[in-house]
Amino acid sequence: MSARSIGLSDELWRYLLDVTVHEPPVLRRLRDETAKLAEANMQISPEQGRFLAFMTELLGVQRYLEVGVFTGYSSLSVALALPADGHIVACDRSDEWTGVARRYWAEAGVASKIELKLGNGVDTLGALLASGARGSFDFAFFDADKESSLTYYERGLELVRQGGVLAFDNALWDGRVAKASDTSESTRSLRALNERVCSDPRVTATLVPIGDGVLLARKR
Ligand code: CA
Repeated sequence: MSARSIGLSDELWRYLLDVTVHEPPVLRRLRDETAKLAEANMQISPEQGRFLAFMTELLGVQRYLEVGVFTGYSSLSVALALPADGHIVACDRSDEWTGVARRYWAEAGVASKIELKLGNGVDTLGALLASGARGSFDFAFFDADKESSLTYYERGLELVRQGGVLAFDNALWDGRVAKASDTSESTRSLRALNERVCSDPRVTATLVPIGDGVLLARKR
């Protein structure tokens, strides 16, 4: 739940944005519009958008899967970094929030790369597997209901290719994962995800403390 990296001073965060992020104007406009929503802190931070774009180039991503689109900042960040024939499957429950995303995808000229699937994320991933999409994605980003994290992880592992990467947002959960007194379902679920992924021999994992923490798992 953070539109900026956890633990950074205002001064350092501003430096990061001004000197290193170079946020495209269309992403800046989307961020400004989203900032007016009550749920604005569900948006990833600009430095995370840059990070996702970097990973997209690093992995040579052709197919990107996202669960939890919200108003589209992460999907648009990746879409702008994809090759012309790249493809995104973007999953979300909200027609209203993804309506904002669709407007910006169109404005940025990337709408044809993005296939939006509305509905429950776990069900959508199940349907993708049933339709033969196993092993077909290079990179997947999960930023949806935290209670389903372990299910997203297992289905995500089936959907990415060998050498593909799964990324989970909010791995630090505004510091709550380290507070033993916090026993909410979402906190317990994120703790379980961090522990499971970082000790799973099927992947190589690392938790990058950018934004609210991004847990990365590369499928071996
Ligand atoms: Ca998030």
